[in-house]
Amino acid sequence: MIDIIESDESIPISAIGNTQITDIVRSKGIIWYNKYFRVCTVLKGDNYQALNCDQSPYRIANYINGNIEDYNNHIIFQTPTCPLKCPYCYVDRLQNDIMMTPEEIIVEFKRLRNRIKKTLNIDINVLHMMGGDPAVYAKFWPKIRKALDACNMSNVVIFSDCLMVEDTIYGIKPWEYIDIPNMVLSCNFKTVSPNGKYIYSTKDITLEDVFVEAAHYIGRSNVYFTVINTDEIHVNRMMSTVGTKNLDLLKIVLYTVNKRRAEGRL
Ligand code: SF4
Repeated sequence: MIDIIESDESIPISAIGNTQITDIVRSKGIIWYNKYFRVCTVLKGDNYQALNCDQSPYRIANYINGNIEDYNNHIIFQTPTCPLKCPYCYVDRLQNDIMMTPEEIIVEFKRLRNRIKKTLNIDINVLHMMGGDPAVYAKFWPKIRKALDACNMSNVVIFSDCLMVEDTIYGIKPWEYIDIPNMVLSCNFKTVSPNGKYIYSTKDITLEDVFVEAAHYIGRSNVYFTVINTDEIHVNRMMSTVGTKNLDLLKIVLYTVNKRRAEGRL
């Protein structure tokens, strides 16, 4: 996975890989995608749950004081930079395929949003920056907000993931960019090795580095935390650090991407 791409004007975006498209098509919910953007319906079925226990619609609705249904469909784009190598990674390719300004992203978002509204009569109210590690490009969050507001979409929520390693690795402090209206951040704690290192990291990151960065996000009403498939010790430490109320436990889901990667076909 590639390193940070420097630009003051544009955000690097990855095209959706062919294998990932297989998983998108198999998912239930709204199936719609183009080269760079896709729609994701997070909660599905009678139980209104996500296979990986993603709680983002609940978290966003809670912050906005709105209805979960209004935040269950996201339009997602993926940034290429990621310093981790999670074995359960759902992305089959992360490359810098196109650079788009915040204004260009919003034009595309609006076009897709209008299309879904016209064909399905559903409002999509979440623009989701996914990784890679989209928090590497946190300086664009206020610019995206401005571009959304300029297009009469102040009600649209900017939702992004964050790995809490951005300052350690890149000297980027995403927490400086999150105090903007209708912005919700999911800080995701990934798998660690028994010796306290991020075992799948492409960089030398210690567990302590992650907790130092986590401290910058604690107590903010528009931030919540997730932890995925780590051992009990690390889950407990996350719980005591960020509090149980603000922490979601995620499950690993094996997608076609993972199966093909395991078979050496990716
Ligand atoms: S942090 Fe996300 S994009 Fe990066 S390797 Fe892990 S699952 Fe994949």
